[in-house]
Amino acid sequence: MDTHTTPPTTTARSLDELADIARPLDLTLNVTQLARLARYRDMLHERNQHVNLTAVRDLDGVERRLILESLRLTQFVQQHAGAGRIMDLGSGGGIPGIVLAIALPEFQFTLLDATGKKVQFQRDVIADLGLENVQAVQGRAEELGHDINWRNSFDLVTARAVTSLAALMELGLPFVAMKGWLVLPKGTDIDEEMVIGRKAAGKLGGTVVSQDELRDVGSDVQTRLVLVRKDQATPVSFPRRVGVPAKSPLGSPQDQAERKPRKKRGGA
Ligand code: SAH
Repeated sequence: MDTHTTPPTTTARSLDELADIARPLDLTLNVTQLARLARYRDMLHERNQHVNLTAVRDLDGVERRLILESLRLTQFVQQHAGAGRIMDLGSGGGIPGIVLAIALPEFQFTLLDATGKKVQFQRDVIADLGLENVQAVQGRAEELGHDINWRNSFDLVTARAVTSLAALMELGLPFVAMKGWLVLPKGTDIDEEMVIGRKAAGKLGGTVVSQDELRDVGSDVQTRLVLVRKDQATPVSFPRRVGVPAKSPLGSPQDQAERKPRKKRGGA
């Protein structure tokens, strides 16, 4: 019996429509890839009713705001991901990592997330879709970023909706190989965050190369793509211990406070 209790909404695009949307992106998706995208869309939407994988609840939103938004990154990835090892940091329900892995089978993807139930969902999708170019790993970026098997090991690292720009620099850049890229889709209102983010990038060997707004492809989302190139080695002291990059982002006033002797809680 079919356990899929949520009927697809009428606004969900058909496979042909998904193909049409991908066309201006210089992306040709074959029938298998389109079917995988549609299946992934349905799995994400369905599992999200029981497990909190994404704040995007409706099927149409999953398609436009998550899947199409992820597909927009393919062009940059194709042009810049050298030997082809890509990490999606804080991949959650698999955004953008699973979508990119479906669209770009010639690249090897590692999805990293700290939360077990999200990694379990990623593994279920990988098995269901028969994806051979993706592995899902449970762990904290603060820890794996110091592991010699992971550090400096990826041509490109993506991270969407994970934490602030400055924290993402600290969590992401250690994984990036020299001259590789950190690719961060963000909303358009990021000027303040950018000031601290740039400072953080500088301390970590990264250069913010651009932060351009992406052209609209029908996703109804305004996105800026922050592109950071690793020009120098990231100092070995980074990332700092678990939780610190997000709590005291490098280059922020909190970071300065972190450097002073600790005050007791409740003290003046
Ligand atoms: N990229 C997905 C998920 C965003 S939610 C999307 O766009 O929908 C953020 C995810 O990042 C969560 O699943 C959380 O578990 C993960 N995360 C946050 N900090 C992390 C860290 N330091 N290491 C690994 N995963 C982290």
